[in-house]
Amino acid sequence: MREILHVQGGQCGNQIGAKFWEVVCTEHGIDPTGSYSGDADVQLERVNVYYNEASCGRYVPRAVLMDLEPGTMDSVRTGPYGQIFRPDNFVFGQSGAGNNWAKGHYTEGAELIDSVLDVVRKEAENCDCLQGFQVCHSLGGGTGSGMGTLLISKIREEYPDRMMLTFSVFPSPKVSDTVVEPYNATLSVHQLVENADECMVLDNEALYDICFRTLKLVTPTFGDLNHLISATMSGVTCCLRGKMSTKEVDEQMINVQNKNSSYFVEWIPNNVKSSVCDIPPTGLKMACTFIGNSTSIQEMFRRVSDQFTAMFRRKAFLHWYTGEGMDEMEFTEAESNMNDLVSEYQQYQDATAEPEGEYEEEYEEP
Ligand code: GDP
Repeated sequence: MREILHVQGGQCGNQIGAKFWEVVCTEHGIDPTGSYSGDADVQLERVNVYYNEASCGRYVPRAVLMDLEPGTMDSVRTGPYGQIFRPDNFVFGQSGAGNNWAKGHYTEGAELIDSVLDVVRKEAENCDCLQGFQVCHSLGGGTGSGMGTLLISKIREEYPDRMMLTFSVFPSPKVSDTVVEPYNATLSVHQLVENADECMVLDNEALYDICFRTLKLVTPTFGDLNHLISATMSGVTCCLRGKMSTKEVDEQMINVQNKNSSYFVEWIPNNVKSSVCDIPPTGLKMACTFIGNSTSIQEMFRRVSDQFTAMFRRKAFLHWYTGEGMDEMEFTEAESNMNDLVSEYQQYQDATAEPEGEYEEEYEEP
């Protein structure tokens, strides 16, 4: 077995994590008590990737839930699948992080981190052959962001050869009005670049725009955004859970690549991967998830970076962070790290850009 250990932290992390488990449980035919009530053998074929099998035959998510305040986790516990989690795996404090990355990373979070690591260790020891970790969190707040990245660095230290995958929600002023979110996000990106192998970037601004423009929802809620996120998480992790022939898909993908060959750089060979799962998401006949790593992601990093710089230039709200013992230097480093990331993407984009005439034609607004 190649087990995955899931961790969710903070309000956003716990909310999207809870949704993820609802969706995954339904797909595997596991009911809220942890009993199997599905109707197809394939549902249980790779169930051990995400679940432990308890002696009573029930399936228990290999999940650790953490927060610096009890509220969100209480809601998860009383929510639709709340009873399925192992009660010992809820680790929480009372202080809160007040949307302050420094509290999550250096003070309040640092106090709670050992209790979380104890649970992580216990779960890891129970695995046959742990393949890695996945962490759900937001980058704009204090807990998921500050404490989340602290946990990621501690796990990296203790399990350097295991995969670290994150589902990281980036902040947008369209969704939240907390001004310091660009600080928290930039400080987190600084950490993720160092310690994560793969980041699934979930941009609240893009999710909001999809809800508003495409789905015509007038006032999108977190529930609406999280619905998109959980569908994505189900699609992204599906290949780890479900198996079948991929011949036809492979052929179609080669077709697409050949037709658009100028957009696929030749110095990254085999850069398209696909997998097929024969169980559709609940309620649908068929679904498809596309994950792209494109240089256009720099626009999002640039957006956060510009917001960061606008405040940092004036040293606005810095005392919240220095008050927790942080040095201004860490801000400067995080800022330049983020700029390096943007430049790196820009460099790749420049290296692949079409000759000007053609390029403009392709990108003309309708
Ligand atoms: P924490 O509890 O200290 O980790 O703080 P939060 O998770 O509340 O972080 C605030 C950021 O997360 C803001 O950018 C919010 O817009 C975002 N956020 C909070 N809850 C959710 C949620 O359920 N879904 C999404 N997509 N974003 C959320």
